[in-house]
Amino acid sequence: MIIAIAALIAVGAIVFILTVRAKDLPEAEPVSPFQHLDERKAAIYENLRDLQFEYRLGKLSDHDYQETKKDLQRELAGVMGEVDRLKLQLSPNGTAPPRVRQAVPEPQPIDPLSCPHCGTKFAQPLKFCGECGKPMKVQA
Ligand SMILES: [Zn+2]
Repeated sequence: MIIAIAALIAVGAIVFILTVRAKDLPEAEPVSPFQHLDERKAAIYENLRDLQFEYRLGKLSDHDYQETKKDLQRELAGVMGEVDRLKLQLSPNGTAPPRVRQAVPEPQPIDPLSCPHCGTKFAQPLKFCGECGKPMKVQA
């Protein structure tokens, strides 16, 4: 009996330690504030897909389909609005970044006549910069 109680206490202690540890551990990845919105968006899209599927199968009347679709689209618009509002809150200058992702700017072509370190331009290609003394060609 004593052994059983001791075992119980030991198990309890282990569970306690594990629980506390799990709580103390920082989250592995910071959760994006957009994550729950993305999840909601995904769920709505899935519902729309299901709806279309059922409509095509003839399980839904035209009216039901249109109504449900309208509801889902309204919900989606709400989520999108929330995403925009959140972006507005998070952006430092207070303007919402464009929804379309900007193209990554092309890397500048390397000018053999200007120093990659200090930017000084020369009339002829040089091995070393006459201004800062560093090699003119960026090592690949
Ligand atoms: Zn230089």
